[in-house]
This record gives sequence, structure tokens and C-alpha cells, in this order.
Amino acid sequence: MRPETSEVREEAESMLNRTWQGRWDSDEAKGRWTHKIIRDISRWRNRRHGHTDYWLTQALTNHGCFSHYLHKIGKLGTSECWYCGHHDDDAFHTIFECDAWETRRFRVETEIGGRLQPENMMDHMLKDKQTWDTINGFVREVLQKKTEEERRRQAIVAAAP
Ligand SMILES: [Zn+2]
Repeated sequence: MRPETSEVREEAESMLNRTWQGRWDSDEAKGRWTHKIIRDISRWRNRRHGHTDYWLTQALTNHGCFSHYLHKIGKLGTSECWYCGHHDDDAFHTIFECDAWETRRFRVETEIGGRLQPENMMDHMLKDKQTWDTINGFVREVLQKKTEEERRRQAIVAAAP
């Protein structure tokens, strides 16, 4: 008996997803931060709304306008947060913790009805397009502000005698 083509395709898809998920869960070296947010690759990949823009990618990869990252690639002398002085400004600090974005974060948390955390961010984003847009909008706004601040600081450094 030959299974229906669509069944085969579904089985293949789910096998593929399981493999990726297995690798995803066991890969210690890379993407630990990303894994913290995107815990279920198949749900993330098969979502029906939302696209991962430049700003969201920064938040998901930890590679972006974060002192931690800028310090690591030699663009900054310290990984300290410019806004609150926290010793390690990474994506986690910026998105979930930094006081500088408390008001903006509070708007998101009012809408989702609780605290925004790496562990629940994916679920909220996948829930519906409105929540995706709210969270993505928050991330974009914060990282745009930080990028402006970084440019301002670079200009000062460049202008220094
Ligand atoms: Zn901070």
C-alpha cells in the first residue's frame, strides 16, 4: 500500500523538523541565545505571520547594537550599558532588563498581560499578528535608538583631537 503523496511529504517534513530540532537542542557551541527564544524551530518556521527584520535578527542573534557584541568585535572598549551602567549589555539586557526601555517594555507587557521573557517571547509572537507587531515594534524602536546613540558616540570619538 502506497501512502498518499501528501502523507509522505508531511512525514518527511516532520522528520526534517525533528532532526533539526534535535540538532538545535544539542548544539552547544552556536546559537544558545537564539535557542533560548526560538525553542521550537518547526513552529517558528511554519508560522503564518510576521517576518524577521533587521532589528529582530539582532535581538535573536545577540549580534547587533549591544555593547557586549561591539566590545567583542573591538568597536568598544567595554561591554557596559550606555544607559544604566550594567556591566554586560547584551540582547537579554537590552530587551528584557534595561531600565532605559522600561516604559516601552511596559506597553508590551500590558498587551501580553505579563512579563516579557526570553522563554515566552516566541509563544507571544506566534499567537497572532498584532502581538508579533507589538513585540517586533518594541525591539525595532529600542535598537533604532541604540543605533542612533552608537553613531552619535562614534561621531564624538571621530571628532576628538
Ligand atoms: Zn542598561
